[in-house]
Amino acid sequence: MIIRKLETFANEFVGFVRVTADTGDQGWGQLSTYNADITAEIFHRQVARHALGTDAIDFGPTLERINEKEHKFPGSYLRRATTGLDTALLDLRGKLEGKPVVSLLGGRPKKIRAYASSMKRDITPEDEARRFLKLRDEKGFTAFKWRVGAECGRDVDEWPGRTEKIVPLVSRALGDGIDKLVDGNSGYSPKRAIEVGRLLEDEGIGHFEEPCPYWEFAQTKEVRDALSLDVTGGEQDCEFTAWERMIEMGAVDIIQPDVMYLGGMLRTLHVARLGAQAGLPCTPHSANLSLVTLCTMHLLAAIDNPGKYLELSIEGLDYYPWQDGLFVEDPYKVVDGHVEISDRPGWGVEVNPQWLDRAQHKVSELG
Ligand SMILES: [Mg+2]
Repeated sequence: MIIRKLETFANEFVGFVRVTADTGDQGWGQLSTYNADITAEIFHRQVARHALGTDAIDFGPTLERINEKEHKFPGSYLRRATTGLDTALLDLRGKLEGKPVVSLLGGRPKKIRAYASSMKRDITPEDEARRFLKLRDEKGFTAFKWRVGAECGRDVDEWPGRTEKIVPLVSRALGDGIDKLVDGNSGYSPKRAIEVGRLLEDEGIGHFEEPCPYWEFAQTKEVRDALSLDVTGGEQDCEFTAWERMIEMGAVDIIQPDVMYLGGMLRTLHVARLGAQAGLPCTPHSANLSLVTLCTMHLLAAIDNPGKYLELSIEGLDYYPWQDGLFVEDPYKVVDGHVEISDRPGWGVEVNPQWLDRAQHKVSELG
């Protein structure tokens, strides 16, 4: 079975890929979010042309060949584009075999514990605590992540004193028996990150994400070496060389690849295995409710070293207006703090036909 046609349906924020095999069988995947319209262009120019006519089932060699053919273009955009191919072909194979993707990868559908993940920094400590308690009581979440410092903030807080206030206030409001995580989003120097880290440890926070500029692995390692809580990171890293170095030098306690930034499921499975060999848990980055979080659920149920929970964004349409109406059914219903992988074939969701009607449509096919 070979790939006959590759289509993209995209807007600025999100783009889906439909693959059609020579048999007429189809699968659906997604390009990584943000500048997805640009990524769709790259998909047709630099991915589809190498993929058309190749094996639709055993596609690992094609992914490697694309990287070789496009070796002058390492980095984010090519990976964001190949994700569309990888995720569409896994959906196709799942539909052919009547199995969910997780089963193709050696796992099985199950419930997965989620942590409620805040994306907001402009929220006051009081309002953050209020909405967390509501989510704890209404949806049963037992783990929460909130934001400290400022994104790439060079030690300058979102506003003076926010971090010193939000850490104890939210942590104490949530109380015991809750896993508490914070994200620094590349905001600190090592010296300041270690100061903040001591406050986090005193307040019972167990996970300190991306404390220093993410590309400065030695800074992250300095923070890890100084603190006892888990220092974590990796969401932006999309090259295997970066992952090998980060893991080898011991920069983090927990690896956090993003399935879609990294180039798809096969590449993320590879990084998860590198982590497993070093004894590191894998708690992927999945910061919105497009297909990335569903892919991450299937991944977590298939790998040997899953972290304790799935990242599940709690932001609605005020923060992510483009999430509106992506799927026919919501695959992210939370019950008792858990989401559930469906046993339907492939990814188990249907992209909303009305959303597709409004998207820019492009086609590459065999002549
Ligand atoms: Mg993060």
